[in-house]
Amino acid sequence: MTVRVWNYLPEYAEERADILDAVETVFGSGQLVLGESVRSFEAEFADYHGLAHGIGVDNGTNAIELALRGLGIQPGDEVITVSNTAAPTVVAIDAMGATPVFVDIRESDYLMDTDQVAAAITERTRAILPVHLYGQCVDMAPLMELAATHELRILEDCAQAHGARRNGVVAGSTGHAAAYSFYPTKVLGAYGDGGAVLTDDKETADAVRRLRFYGMEDRYFVVQTPGHNSRLDEVQAEILRRKLRRLDTYIADRQAIAARYASALGDTDLVLPSVTPGNDHVYYVYVVRHPRRDDILARLKSYDINLNISYPWPVHAQTGFAKLGYQPGSLPVTEALAEEIFSLPMYPSLSADVQDKVIHAVREVLSTL
Ligand SMILES: *Cc1c(COP(=O)(O)O)cnc(C)c1O
Repeated sequence: MTVRVWNYLPEYAEERADILDAVETVFGSGQLVLGESVRSFEAEFADYHGLAHGIGVDNGTNAIELALRGLGIQPGDEVITVSNTAAPTVVAIDAMGATPVFVDIRESDYLMDTDQVAAAITERTRAILPVHLYGQCVDMAPLMELAATHELRILEDCAQAHGARRNGVVAGSTGHAAAYSFYPTKVLGAYGDGGAVLTDDKETADAVRRLRFYGMEDRYFVVQTPGHNSRLDEVQAEILRRKLRRLDTYIADRQAIAARYASALGDTDLVLPSVTPGNDHVYYVYVVRHPRRDDILARLKSYDINLNISYPWPVHAQTGFAKLGYQPGSLPVTEALAEEIFSLPMYPSLSADVQDKVIHAVREVLSTL
């Protein structure tokens, strides 16, 4: 079988009884939409983060959009974020009519260069959207200071950082709200689409709760602003409840796999992920860097290893975002990175055999470049 960066089937084989029991629990419950499983998952997921409110939504993109709207961000407002992210971060900002403004990333950990944020603030800036990319946390302290000085809202994009910590503080618990995706590949993944917004602020939580349910406060009455239909599915919520209990184990498994890559590839000229001091990396993806990236990926195909690039094009370089007006060269670290990165297989149920096959092939390819 072709080796890919992600495969959920070994995990499903282990957890099948529990997953099918979750499905059966919902089907037999008598309530298929916004029932007990969604309510319980919302409470349990918020609790995991020490936060007061959780709102389950249909996916991570809508979690970001509804969280921005719930935080009071308006069309025409500027939101500072990064271009080195999954396009949905920026799609969500665009979808609510706000304007994304990009800062570059750091060479070391590929995360938002928080030193560049102050200079990007204008009188239209209303929010900062740090992305805890690849499984590692952005330093929130300087952002929270800027937010206090300039009266900005901070939304954390935690779609790749479930359970990641910085100085012991879990991702998503520092800003004014946090958005999560439970797309199957994520560190906490559903068996389909899902997302959530977490916040300590009741007003924001109430707003997001209305927005995911057409804008209705109660049934059949849109009180303030028309919303979406963005409900988290009841079956996915019940599966996520089961998997949340294993989240810390999934993370430990990912970290063990990362440690194995580091010891087996540390003497090669691949640039391995660098963990910033204070961070607990959860390795959503294991991103490595090499100037001959394209040759390496091509040669690995002859070993039946088909890897992925997260992400091959920075968002500002995608034609759909040409309207934002960024020229090539405007975000040099982001642009250089995109030419050189690729991801090694990473998922909790990755077997030692498959990992060894990848390590062996990568070493052989590197030695014959
Ligand atoms: C996956 C992801 C999203 C979007 O989540 P979906 O559930 O696919 O809509 C947003 N931001 C980041 C950083 C992601 O990785």
